Amino acid sequence: MDGQQVRRVVIAGGGTAGWCAAAALSRMLGPLLDITLVESDDIGIVGVGEATIPTVRTFHNFLNINERDFLRATNGTFKLGIAFENWGRPGDRYMHSFGTVGRSTWVAPFHHVWMQAKSEGYGGKLGDYCLELQAAEAGKFQTSDQGGLNYAYHFDAGLYGQFLRKISEQSGVRRIEGKISRVEQHPESGFIHALHLESGEVVEGDLFIDCTGFRGLLIEETLKTGYEDWTHWLPMNRAVAVQTQAQGPIQPYTRAITHDAGWRWRIPLQNRVGNGLVYSSEYLSDDAARDQLLGSLDAPRLTEPRLIRFVTGRRLKTWNKNCLTLGLSSGFIEPLESTSIHLFQIGVTRLIQLFPFNGISDALANHFNKLASDELDMVRDFVILHYKATQRDDSPFWRDRRAMSIPDSLAHRIQVFEENAVAWQASGELFRIDSWLQVMLGQGLQPRGWHHLGRMIKRAQAEKFLSDMSSGIDRAVAGMATHESFLRQYLG
Ligand SMILES: Cc1cc2nc3c(=O)[nH]c(=O)nc-3n(C[C@H](O)[C@H](O)[C@H](O)COP(=O)(O)OP(=O)(O)OC[C@H]3O[C@@H](n4cnc5c(N)ncnc54)[C@H](O)[C@@H]3O)c2cc1C
Repeated sequence: MDGQQVRRVVIAGGGTAGWCAAAALSRMLGPLLDITLVESDDIGIVGVGEATIPTVRTFHNFLNINERDFLRATNGTFKLGIAFENWGRPGDRYMHSFGTVGRSTWVAPFHHVWMQAKSEGYGGKLGDYCLELQAAEAGKFQTSDQGGLNYAYHFDAGLYGQFLRKISEQSGVRRIEGKISRVEQHPESGFIHALHLESGEVVEGDLFIDCTGFRGLLIEETLKTGYEDWTHWLPMNRAVAVQTQAQGPIQPYTRAITHDAGWRWRIPLQNRVGNGLVYSSEYLSDDAARDQLLGSLDAPRLTEPRLIRFVTGRRLKTWNKNCLTLGLSSGFIEPLESTSIHLFQIGVTRLIQLFPFNGISDALANHFNKLASDELDMVRDFVILHYKATQRDDSPFWRDRRAMSIPDSLAHRIQVFEENAVAWQASGELFRIDSWLQVMLGQGLQPRGWHHLGRMIKRAQAEKFLSDMSSGIDRAVAGMATHESFLRQYLG
């Protein structure tokens, strides 16, 4: 007896979440598990989700994925951040880059020294001290080995799923194509016992992972776990998406451009561009959204516009009985900061770390749920910040965002920042101080005070320190290749 009580893992759904879960579990724990994935070609996948954050590279390293193979297979490009256009006020633009801003000391982060300099009339822009931001603005790129850049990717969501499927099948995952028509529960415990397919096949398991998309076939339709709706903070509930031909240089960043009732994305891949308009149906009709998106395209269209409906919020439990939910079935925060893929990649990583070899217990599930829920709260606050901290008053949508109430946790962050320019990354939190800082300042929040470390340094010395740093960054960026030529040379 090896004492292992959970061996048969059944993944329901083969979108990005399902195949990420399959690839990670099979690569890391494969010989100890018997993994089956069920997906239905008839139902298909949501097929959007093409911008990521740098944690995707940690996940790929963990799976031993070769970067060139991955980029070639998915038409991938590099991403150094997101350009936010017209968020604070119409005409504004700022970059939330993945870089570190300046050089911090243990006494105070760099921006306090910069704020002191600004108050004395020098110091330039905060972005002058961030390599990733300057490289993004210049359309330049180099991989970390050569240039020390922190980066993520843009890729084709459908091709990424296929790439992960190949890894999973090579690592022993059994794939079944078919529609799940019934979920069988144990009559007393309510634990899931098996999935019944339309074909008559029955797939039994010890642990089930629900990756069936928004519907949550196992976690919600079967286990009735419940959903916490965050529409009052993030009212976006629709997106219309369309692909266009590649046009102009391939920018190493995502664009997030506001409109009267939301925003639209532009995500450049090697061979095409993904475009989408995110909006609230309370403020914009589907027809008007479609027209607006089509009117904003800068290149010929490759696909028909596709409407996607969603409700922002989260499932009350990520792990309920012997079912875990990953991906859209676990909840959804709109794609403004490209966090969904990260959330299920960290979710499956956590499952691997806490795998219930010795049986499923409430204590373990509660621990897992607390980690997932705390992390999600902080991501939610970060996204709400973009809407709350605006000076826009040119449409009912933006006026309502300025006036809306926000979670206490975010109100506290904003207050501390406005009073003392203090920002922080809490334990277990995804976004670093640099992210909070770039977005808070970019959205137009103006701290009234800051740490006085900068006053300890003589002006001539401080000026030299700042100008050496920014000119060092300029020189490094000047020496980089353009993103496009780097991609060509790197991928051969
Ligand atoms: C508008 C929009 C933009 C987004 N942009 C980003 C982004 O830029 N970055 C990011 O990180 N994320 C983004 N996301 C989120 C991202 O798209 C998803 O997190 C990701 O695609 C994972 O989806 P999924 O696998 O959970 O669900 P899906 O892709 O919907 O897959 C569901 C799977 O379940 C299967 N299934 C369902 N029912 C059954 C059944 N009865 N029997 C058998 N199989 C079944 C389907 O066949 C499919 O394989 C975006 C989402 C939206 C809506």
